[in-house]
Amino acid sequence: MQFKDIIGQKNIKENLLQTVKDNRIAHALLFYGPEGSGALPLAVAYAQYISCLNRTGNDSCGTCTSCHKYNKLIHPDLHFVYPVSTSKRVVKDPVSDDYINEWRNCLLQNPYMSEAQWYEFIEIENKQGLIGREESRQILKKLNLKSFESDYKIMIIWLPEKMNPSCANTLLKLIEEPPDNTVLLLVADFIHEILPTILSRVQIIKVPRIHDDDLRKVLTEKHQLPQARVENLLHLSNGSYQRALELINSSGEMKYFFHTFGEFMRAAYKGTPLPLLKMADELSEIGREQQKRFFDYALGLIRQNFVMNFKQPEITYISDEELNFSQRFHPFINQRNVKKIYNLFNVAYRDIEANGYDKIIFLDLGIKLSSCLKN
Ligand SMILES: [Zn+2]
Repeated sequence: MQFKDIIGQKNIKENLLQTVKDNRIAHALLFYGPEGSGALPLAVAYAQYISCLNRTGNDSCGTCTSCHKYNKLIHPDLHFVYPVSTSKRVVKDPVSDDYINEWRNCLLQNPYMSEAQWYEFIEIENKQGLIGREESRQILKKLNLKSFESDYKIMIIWLPEKMNPSCANTLLKLIEEPPDNTVLLLVADFIHEILPTILSRVQIIKVPRIHDDDLRKVLTEKHQLPQARVENLLHLSNGSYQRALELINSSGEMKYFFHTFGEFMRAAYKGTPLPLLKMADELSEIGREQQKRFFDYALGLIRQNFVMNFKQPEITYISDEELNFSQRFHPFINQRNVKKIYNLFNVAYRDIEANGYDKIIFLDLGIKLSSCLKN
């Protein structure tokens, strides 16, 4: 991964380049920024730059033996640590190395990946990932090795806020007394969940959301999207390339959500048990992350329908298909019931998040919506 592959973040790139030029590479750096801002690919590009045998003033070369290995994320002096959990394949004491092939694939496919996407990728999506006690042994073992090929051993720790206390203490000790020629690159989404004693000892780089102009350029040139769609994506993705990608890739999912939402509302309006049971069955078949996205989608469409009681929605927020549906549906969402409907969806969302029994949650939601819609 090279700096040229990273969207925007010009100032950060320049600062990182300067540390190498001035020979003042810190022992421990923490990149943090909102999901999809590029903190992780920045750390990887920085590591590749440090390790490159033929770097230029503004990027790694991409072709030397070190870069060749970095391009596949298989350089022997590059180590990764990230949250994992047990799965069908890994039943006990999971560590990062158990998932190293998945990690390389996932990161190479999408360097802007989110935590949820990672868990979906390694099929632990209903569990929370952790960096646990066994991992701290692995970290020490790896950093006690001599470097193989580079001047530096580099360890990228993604989401250090997921460390359990024993692992966080190992990390703290490493930062206090760093092994020779070692660079620790921490990449966090939520800085306030990291031990203050760690924060006070690392150099912190705040990665802001991607500037609209930079994101606009990528969406127009790389993804070749029409201008109206680009502006719509900029509005919805809030500076997160990951979010924009999700929205681009979700046109199939959006169609499914649209269709399902319509069916669900018809079943709820009818209020008889069979169609509601059928919907609950169907929605319990999709994974939890997708169920949560369905709720997000439903809440968005309900909001638009409520607004339509007062004015036409802006075309950037709604597709033609949704507009057609909403022209008939919007009178059912009104001042008397909108708050209640909103709450019902939010409660269902929270119950799904808390690992409740999904079929019952959807059935219960359908029954309660039924009385709301007829009000
Ligand atoms: Zn190189």
